Amino acid sequence: MFTRELLEPLDGLKGAGPALRKKLSRLGIYTAADLLLYAPRSWEDRSQQRCLREYALGPVNCRVQVTAHEWFGYGRMKSLKIWVQDEQGTRAVLVCFNRGFLEQQWPEGSSGQLWGKFDFRYGSLQSSSFDLDLQPAPGSILPVYPLTEGLGQTSLRKLARQALLHWGSVDDEIPAGLLLKQGLPDKKSALRGLHQPKTMHEAEQAWRRMVYEELFYMQLLILRRNIQRRQQKLERGKLNSSLVDALRQRLPFELTPDQDKVLDEIATDLHSPWPMARLLQGDVGSGKTLVAFMSALYSIASGGQAAIMAPTELLARQHAENAALLLEPLGVRLAFLSGNVSDAARRPLLAALAAGEIDLVLGTHALFSDEVHYKNLRFVVVDEQHRFGVLQRLALGAKGKAPDLLMMSATPIPRTLALTAFGDLAVSTIRTMPPGRKAIITHLARQGNEDKVYSFIEKELRAGNRAYFVYPLVDRSDKLELKDAEAMFQALGKRFPAFKGGLIHARLPEDSKRATMHSFSRGELQYLVATSVVEVGVDVPQATCMVIEHAERFGLAALHQLRGRVGRGSAQSYCFLVWSEKLGNEGKQRVMAMKNTTDGFVIAEEDLRIRGPGEITGTSQAGALRLSFADPVRDAAVLEAARQDALDVLSADPELLSADGSLIRQVLERASPFAEKTAGAS
Ligand code: ADP
Ligand code: MG
Repeated sequence: MFTRELLEPLDGLKGAGPALRKKLSRLGIYTAADLLLYAPRSWEDRSQQRCLREYALGPVNCRVQVTAHEWFGYGRMKSLKIWVQDEQGTRAVLVCFNRGFLEQQWPEGSSGQLWGKFDFRYGSLQSSSFDLDLQPAPGSILPVYPLTEGLGQTSLRKLARQALLHWGSVDDEIPAGLLLKQGLPDKKSALRGLHQPKTMHEAEQAWRRMVYEELFYMQLLILRRNIQRRQQKLERGKLNSSLVDALRQRLPFELTPDQDKVLDEIATDLHSPWPMARLLQGDVGSGKTLVAFMSALYSIASGGQAAIMAPTELLARQHAENAALLLEPLGVRLAFLSGNVSDAARRPLLAALAAGEIDLVLGTHALFSDEVHYKNLRFVVVDEQHRFGVLQRLALGAKGKAPDLLMMSATPIPRTLALTAFGDLAVSTIRTMPPGRKAIITHLARQGNEDKVYSFIEKELRAGNRAYFVYPLVDRSDKLELKDAEAMFQALGKRFPAFKGGLIHARLPEDSKRATMHSFSRGELQYLVATSVVEVGVDVPQATCMVIEHAERFGLAALHQLRGRVGRGSAQSYCFLVWSEKLGNEGKQRVMAMKNTTDGFVIAEEDLRIRGPGEITGTSQAGALRLSFADPVRDAAVLEAARQDALDVLSADPELLSADGSLIRQVLERASPFAEKTAGAS
């Protein structure tokens, strides 16, 4: 049996009555497998002794004697304090909330082994989360689990130990040769190492083994998918560049060298007998849209259909307008589709798509809803969708016969993440900006000094330039003392009486947002007051100023995106980050990072450093493959090793027929780490 096949319920375990099982279910623990694979947060090393005097160095772990009892509070709120003293004579107080029974258990003069984290408060050393035992803890290294209300470490530890006894003799998911090569314990030892390790080393090795197992199978799945894709051979004719050439002729500028390079890479893919799966990353404003259009033109020129999907209606519209400008004159038949397109307009549109009378459709997620059928979908562009995991991409591919896929992102994806969430994609990068752009100048301003900023903006407006003002909230919040877009729209109207402004945020209807955007880009409005809806992709080259108030409330990636809305023309552009007193340490680091660089790659690295990998992987993997032990950034080295091993296995034995191969095939069929979890079966 593999561990994930142990679907027995837990009611056979001592102490696991219905009430306890209900609490366990809140932690996602229903079966033996869930319990065995429940990951400790850390371990407490109780083999190290530490007396009370050394409380600041870590948890105290020493023998103490009870010297006195004391009750405080009244009635139902009455609580016990136990005074103790260690062998050095240091005194401390144990605050026993809801643990009055300890009075009987630990009479004056008794002694025991104390474990706990202590603080110096109200003139004495105190702890309210401590353990007091007769003997030093057995095994001395204790797992520390994530808990839920009413369920303590002690119960979970007892359950996990029973589970090891009952079910701990499991088969291994990883071939023995690989474990040997990586110096990792087998699964039986690893389970023991997680829940009942004898040394810290054993615990850490157990964890490493679990990390390796997850990453090995993840990489195996991704690599297998690549192989499968290569098995769908396409009949492609010669690459037809007539439309691409025609568009080049019409452009008022040359492609940048990087745009040309990427277009070549894509053309090579489109020439190969396999469907393309490529990620195009390039900083905001580097000209990805044009590359996407040109790539789509290759498919269209040879009779295929193309679809370009954007994350928001605003952005999709903007792409559609650009397409109308650039592509319609070439005879490309265009359509726009989003959830807001009326039924009356939608029906003929869907019919035309199904009949192949539309060459390029631009829109939102609606492009891939059930009602949409394509005659011959050959090329799909997914713009700015970091949450688009491996699985969604598969679903999308089902709309056509293995369409070529181009994902675009302005947020550079660190290599380690590229290997996991995006591990099946080839990567192209645009590093250079179109010529003639001046670096954006970023100024920091403390809240209270906004008026200096506003005066600066006034000068820019008078010179014929345009500005954005961005706020964290749409309207007033009672809980947060923050400026909001609606109130500031009024306030700025008074501040700049000679100019016209527009208001734009997510709660306004689409057509009013669109109208406002239009007026702004035509110059009928000189400034725009907004929330972060203008974050992604909005392109108005005459805008030279971006003012972000409460800048510390925005994430680094969002700030960078927002700043990327200016500096899109040849004029000098400015970004003002207005920060308030309340900016914490992280907020300060973000704002400083923005001041110090405009390079999106540097910012992405900095983001990773400030936020830590967990959060970033969390979003980029949503809907993709879920990891319980591994963190692809922290565990980058294991990831590389696991990827190489998976690659070796598959190249030696692509059909998984050898002894090792069939073990792996069994795991994938019966107990894959990434199968959908069937919660609450018992
Ligand atoms: P991205 O999507 O990468 O953020 P866009 O595709 O919106 O960037 O391009 C930003 C702006 O640069 C657009 O106005 C576009 O017309 C312009 N642009 C694109 N390529 C070039 C080029 N080679 N030379 C000059 N301007 C360009
Ligand atoms: Mg873009």
